[in-house]
Amino acid sequence: MKRRNFIKNAALTSAGLVIGNSLTSCNNSESKEENNETIVSTDEEKLPLVIATWHVKNATARAMEILQSGGTSLDAVEQGCMVEEADIKNSSVGKGGLPDRDGNVTLDACIMDKHGNCGSVIYLQSITHAVSVARKVMEDTPHVMLAGEGAKQFAISQGFKEEDLLTETSKKAWEDWKIKSEYKPIINIENHDTIGMLAIDKNGDIAGACTTSGLAYKMQGRVGDSPIIGSGLFIDNDIGGCVATGLGEEVVKTVGSFLVVELMRQGKSPQEACEEAISRIVNKPNSNYKDFQVGYIAVNKKGETGSYSIHQWFSMTKFQDGINEQIQSDFYYEAENS
Ligand code: ASP
Repeated sequence: MKRRNFIKNAALTSAGLVIGNSLTSCNNSESKEENNETIVSTDEEKLPLVIATWHVKNATARAMEILQSGGTSLDAVEQGCMVEEADIKNSSVGKGGLPDRDGNVTLDACIMDKHGNCGSVIYLQSITHAVSVARKVMEDTPHVMLAGEGAKQFAISQGFKEEDLLTETSKKAWEDWKIKSEYKPIINIENHDTIGMLAIDKNGDIAGACTTSGLAYKMQGRVGDSPIIGSGLFIDNDIGGCVATGLGEEVVKTVGSFLVVELMRQGKSPQEACEEAISRIVNKPNSNYKDFQVGYIAVNKKGETGSYSIHQWFSMTKFQDGINEQIQSDFYYEAENS
């Protein structure tokens, strides 16, 4: 069976409803020609579910705990992301995140709920839980984004504690990098592991969040895709959601997460939508995609999921139906197009 058939739309939803012509007509022409029979997805779309970028089982476990106890998808994604933000061993988010090339740890985060409300913080310093500040921006201000000192002062006014986010380990890594690297403003290709999370709660409502310290050793003031609604994250509760990780500049240029959700709206499965969004990046004229990584994960309203990246080693953690697992796909752009 071709992989594309394997990941086709499900015949049954989690609610046990038979999908009629309206859904099957969403399938692309390739699949209709190849499939006269109904393909049953391997995702049985049992709700609730949570997915996240990379290998973050503790975070998805926390999110699922919230969902199982009847919490909302919004609470789940916030609490799940907070696990990684507090983990000083995770060098790409929150406390312990690698600094910019001047030694400043600056955090970007955003969150989006089932109503299409969103909040975001950019260049936030000295506050570990950027995702929670983003939620406060969404819920307690008339704005969507707060940046820099204003974001920090807002957080403090809301009771967040100031902390030094540069740990001994991250300081040492930065000092080692400075010795080895030419100090000039080139695009970084160093570590990048943004934590993006999408959840569907028992009511079928979708929320998402994204949190990062951004590219390691970025230029001071640099902001990537992660706090930009539509780039690092997008949710449409009627359709699905998507989050991105990798070189944010490339995600921003293609408004990646919004693109994935819109492709799902047009009938693509989450997997197909992620693949198309990656192909938009690599097929741009003069794309130097061999030098950077971008990965997307997505979920649709039925609970079907997808993930795709340019290069190897991207993974998704998925918690559904009692199973919390890291899914490392053998399918990525480079493998399929070499
Ligand atoms: N997307 C993030 C950024 O560009 C990096 C990451 O994925 O860690 O800031």
